[in-house]
Amino acid sequence: MNETQGHSQEGRRTGQCLCGAVRFTAVPSKMETGVCHCNMCRRWTAGPFFAVDCGDSLVFDAQDDLEIFRSSDWGERGFCRKCGTPLLWQLHDKTHVSVSLTAFDEIDDMVFTSEIFIDEKPDIYTFANETKKMTGAQVFALFTDAQDN
Ligand SMILES: [Zn+2]
Ligand SMILES: [Zn+2]
Repeated sequence: MNETQGHSQEGRRTGQCLCGAVRFTAVPSKMETGVCHCNMCRRWTAGPFFAVDCGDSLVFDAQDDLEIFRSSDWGERGFCRKCGTPLLWQLHDKTHVSVSLTAFDEIDDMVFTSEIFIDEKPDIYTFANETKKMTGAQVFALFTDAQDN
């Protein structure tokens, strides 16, 4: 496979929102997913947000109904305005995009490896998977160098 418009085709996989109005392809940086337990993600997705780091590889095949909501000083969230499916979280400059795991068509080969904002996880559920867990403060510390918060 060759590259198209600078975007690698290797490992590229398809996904879409519930109604199909927004369709995309992306290349996961790793075959791994992590979940965010933060209050914003849980309110937005109606559950913990399973995300896949896709670098800057996200390409939309159909995006007329893609809505971008600025949710914080550093991040924004993309969803379908027709059906409401949460699709992505990204930095404003789009240098880092986390795509919703459950928006991809195929996810059975992904491994669940990390949980962030573990300190905001409600007590009513706990995942049994062996994962690396980080608090919100630890996550912000990772971003401090690149972001002015
Ligand atoms: Zn939709
Ligand atoms: Zn979150």
